[in-house]
Amino acid sequence: MTAEMSLQLLQRSVESTYNGIVICDARQPDLPIIYVNPAFERMTGYTLAEVRGRNCRFLQPEAIDLPELEELRTGLREQRDIHVVLRNCRKNGELLWNELFISPVLDAEGETTHFVGVLNDVTEQRRYESELMFTINHDVLTGLPNRSLLEDRLAQACSMARRYRKRLAVLFIDLDGFKPINDSMGHNIGDQLLVEVAGRLSQQVRVGDTVGRMGSDEFIVLLSDLDSEASVVDAAERLIRILAQPYVFDGGAVHVTASIGITLSDGQLEHSAQLIQQADLAMFKAKQAGRNNYQWFTDDLDHEVVERLALRNELRRAIQDSALELYYQPQVDGRSGRVTGIEALLRWQHPTRGFIPPLELIHAAEDAGQIIFLSLWVLEAACRFNRRLAERGLADLVVAVNISAVFFKRGDFVESIGAVLSRTGMPAALLELEITESVFLDETESAIATLRALKELGVRIAIDDFGTGFSSLSSLKRLAIDRVKVHQSFIKDIISDRHDANITQGIISMAHHLRLEVVAEGVETEAQYFFLRKIQCDVFQGYFLGRPLPADEIVRFLGDRPAVATLQSGGEVRRPTLLLLDDEPNVLRALGRLLRRDGYEILMANRAEEAFEILARNEVQVIITDQRMPEMCGTEFLSRVKGLHPDTVRIVLSGYTDLSTVTEAINQGAVYKFLLKPWDDEALRAVVAEAFRYWSENGKGRAARD
Ligand code: C2E
Ligand code: MG
Ligand code: MG
Repeated sequence: MTAEMSLQLLQRSVESTYNGIVICDARQPDLPIIYVNPAFERMTGYTLAEVRGRNCRFLQPEAIDLPELEELRTGLREQRDIHVVLRNCRKNGELLWNELFISPVLDAEGETTHFVGVLNDVTEQRRYESELMFTINHDVLTGLPNRSLLEDRLAQACSMARRYRKRLAVLFIDLDGFKPINDSMGHNIGDQLLVEVAGRLSQQVRVGDTVGRMGSDEFIVLLSDLDSEASVVDAAERLIRILAQPYVFDGGAVHVTASIGITLSDGQLEHSAQLIQQADLAMFKAKQAGRNNYQWFTDDLDHEVVERLALRNELRRAIQDSALELYYQPQVDGRSGRVTGIEALLRWQHPTRGFIPPLELIHAAEDAGQIIFLSLWVLEAACRFNRRLAERGLADLVVAVNISAVFFKRGDFVESIGAVLSRTGMPAALLELEITESVFLDETESAIATLRALKELGVRIAIDDFGTGFSSLSSLKRLAIDRVKVHQSFIKDIISDRHDANITQGIISMAHHLRLEVVAEGVETEAQYFFLRKIQCDVFQGYFLGRPLPADEIVRFLGDRPAVATLQSGGEVRRPTLLLLDDEPNVLRALGRLLRRDGYEILMANRAEEAFEILARNEVQVIITDQRMPEMCGTEFLSRVKGLHPDTVRIVLSGYTDLSTVTEAINQGAVYKFLLKPWDDEALRAVVAEAFRYWSENGKGRAARD
């Protein structure tokens, strides 16, 4: 090839190459361009004619001193190879990411005569990379910073706060009741709602503040550079207001509120991410305080976190070392007086903190991600214990196991129950699962399906803590269950509080209507037991019938429990029964003497409390009470009795007449007759006899005869 030919080839190559090429004169001041190839022209939009004689810096419109430019300048000064990526600008103003290689061109003497630059357009690649960065750091649905970017921003805000002695606030925002909307209206609406929430939040903050999404319906607002606490309060109140406005979608509107937890910081915390945790806890407090409000993080909450974290770690060890134990509490059938079941209750004797309440334990296990492991351990231990009892001749004792909501909602829940049954050889019919009412509040449909599957497996189901949630009794008919367990808070005052008594009675009759059994929890006294039997409760559990006991002791308890049927004595009607209540023993004695002659069974009490107990344990038809007593006046007592034992016939015998109380009591139907002290013996006998007649002609008396 001649020199001429090779020069031509070189020129054609340079002109047809895809890379931009620029050649500058190194011997002239300011390095003027002497040549650019067509690719350069295409890439930058400038023609050779336009750029010849100029320095390349016109491609660099922003007069900012970037490190890349500095690198470029020194490279040129030192006349060496340079490789930089520059943020250039095309003629039409568009961004051009230019990956530039520059080399000096030497003459025969080794002097630099020219520089040749090769330009690569990497704009597309850059855009893709930055999008990628964006998606790594942002939530795809809402475009907000995600947890990892939030944590970066938080760390930044903390160091700014330290440097400038400012404060920052973290707001943890959780929507109230988002899940049911998402479940019932579909994820599409749920997504739209979240996007709208993100938009509303972003509009409310200043430049420099951050809004981010933690996951599902949880958002974070980071307010930096605060001048006062008051501005945080303003912000929180504003956010609550804005978020509570209706969300309108095609055709309908949805209402959602938010709970907010706030924590303030001067940036001194060692781990800035702790702030999120603190705000989260405060948010939890806001939920507990009834939702749709904000709460501040306080140090006692912090203490709780530390304890919970410690507990979580110790729990891991306890499970590994099998330091946990099951206690068993008897359940007594009202008809036979026999123990027909036992409930397994978890116990943990902590090495330093002593006894840890099982609910705390369960929550710690949920936190630690150990709940499934723990649940399976409990189930298996309870089933094995049941088999041990069977070997000792207690073959048909049902064992009840409490099931955590987290476990119940797992996809493989039914399967793992089946697996435990077959592993332990436990008959399904002897296993009862206690599931709290609250589980059915939100996830009704899937919960119903799970219950059906359990039924097919053959296990029994009890709804635990019934009455504390919000589910109505009628919703129970959709559920495949065997029992409801009335929460002990209703049992505590059942013999004297007519509301508790009425609710329990209502639960019992409705449950029986649905062919469900009712278990009363927390039965502590004989009076409660008899009262509950009177209102047809089926099964009883509580300290009165037996405390929770360790495995060995319950075996003994079940073995030598003679008192099965002796509890039966109460409740049967023998003779007409009269209850006398007066705080003066003399009056009681005198009345007793007088009325016993007429053949009544007479029960006496000095105090209202005592009288409630007697009424709980016995069938009483007629009551005579004094009006003026230190703890509770007679009319008040009788109005309560009316609610608890509506069929009784109630008489006041009083030396004191306050007409208005008396007429009111009579008008409310709480009092049948009002008699004056001192009484006339014969007249009193006649009134009592008439009262018993009245009883047998009305209410229960008539019902029994008909
Ligand atoms: P629960 O299922 O309602 O259990 C009844 C609770 O009442 C037990 O408390 C029991 O000891 C207590 N109790 C029984 N009789 C009486 C009484 O006459 N008076 C009073 N005041 N209390 C009585 P415990 O053992 O502290 O358990 C509390 C709760 O912890 C249980 O309530 C249950 O929800 C949960 N739990 C216990 N063990 C487990 C378990 O193995 N797994 C799960 N997921 N939860 C459990
Ligand atoms: Mg239970
Ligand atoms: Mg319960």
